[in-house]
Amino acid sequence: MDERLRSESVELLSQLIRFNTVNPPGNERAAQEHLAAHMTAAGFECELLGRTPERPNLIARLHGEQPGPVLCLLSHVDTVLATPGEWSHDPWSGDVHDGFVWGRGALDMKSQTAAEAVAACSLARAGWRPARGTLLLVSLADEETGGGDGARWLTANHAEKVRCDYLVNEGGGGIIDYAGRRIYCLGCAEKGVFRFALHTSGVAAHASMPRLGDNALLKLAPLLERFAARQPSYHLTAEPRAFLEAIGALEPDGDAAAALARVGALEPRLVPLLEPMLGVSLAPTRVFASEKVNVIPSQARLVVDCRVPAGLGEAEALAAIAEVLAGEDGYRLEWTERVMGNRSPIESPMADFIRGWIARQDAEAICAPVVLPGFTDSRTFRDAFPQCTAYGFFPHRVRTRFETDPLIHGADERIDVRDLEFATGFFRDLAVGLLGG
Ligand SMILES: [Zn+2]
Repeated sequence: MDERLRSESVELLSQLIRFNTVNPPGNERAAQEHLAAHMTAAGFECELLGRTPERPNLIARLHGEQPGPVLCLLSHVDTVLATPGEWSHDPWSGDVHDGFVWGRGALDMKSQTAAEAVAACSLARAGWRPARGTLLLVSLADEETGGGDGARWLTANHAEKVRCDYLVNEGGGGIIDYAGRRIYCLGCAEKGVFRFALHTSGVAAHASMPRLGDNALLKLAPLLERFAARQPSYHLTAEPRAFLEAIGALEPDGDAAAALARVGALEPRLVPLLEPMLGVSLAPTRVFASEKVNVIPSQARLVVDCRVPAGLGEAEALAAIAEVLAGEDGYRLEWTERVMGNRSPIESPMADFIRGWIARQDAEAICAPVVLPGFTDSRTFRDAFPQCTAYGFFPHRVRTRFETDPLIHGADERIDVRDLEFATGFFRDLAVGLLGG
């Protein structure tokens, strides 16, 4: 790629990092206005739309000559917080040092915002227009706290402005070196969230005479031990099955546990990344009991974060909980959050394009579908526009997920300049590949 595009991507990313958009409160306006000016100068029609003036979303459009599909390059410009004392560069410096751009958002996900914008602007400035359809760039506010001012607000209030047929967002494109080959992860699905509380009850009493009461907190102990001992059995859905098959780890019997053991023997670092894709996960995270140190609690509550693969729901979550807590009773289960995961087809024209593009860059590489254990704005867009194919894909070339995953939401978040350049080239080729011209 030419030097000008690389330096434009690096410069735009540094500038975006310097706008502090830690959410809450987000305060994305200055960053969005900066981006809008960049896009407008290149020939895009831009609109800033927000629930509040401080937190607009940017929609930038480039129309083609004929009607046709809409390709949306999506991202968000808010970030999680950063603790400067833990960093070796100021998190809002956007420093370029040692071949990296440093700062909060360098991976999640101002890098993708910058790469998408520079790709789109460079095409538009050169006079390119879609042969058919529309190129849309949407930069959102408020992803990190759930999208109430971002994706959810925008799709509910201005659906016609962001309706799209193809969408590319965060949640994929990272690389894994495994058994001498490179795997590109294509984010096709996101797990659902089925959080719950387990309640126990007893009898309150003075804590100086414990036998006068019946301690509800102690009744959580056997439940916690069950969660410590095991996870539910694996439940292989289409995406992890395709992933394990693509890397040659799954035998015809479809035994996911055996496949994971095979993977672990070759590359133990892959196990914690892969295992959440294979089924329902249960993670107890909070306990509440007595308000007072000298009162035996009559009520106690254990809160569990439960994630369920796309395509599965409450019935599978209940089965997983029953399996792990088998034989235990004396508790009451209360759902606190139930949101289904969702997915896009593994096979699509966009998947074909991505696989072909990867093959041209690296003939030996594999492109395999993955399930994101968490969730992104893609879920909101898939729900709002069921015909839309949405993937997470920000391709890296140099740094593997073993290096980049721990930096996301962590200290010293940074991106290799060569990876930023690689992704910028990809978004350019994707726009031309899907929209022609
Ligand atoms: Zn993100």
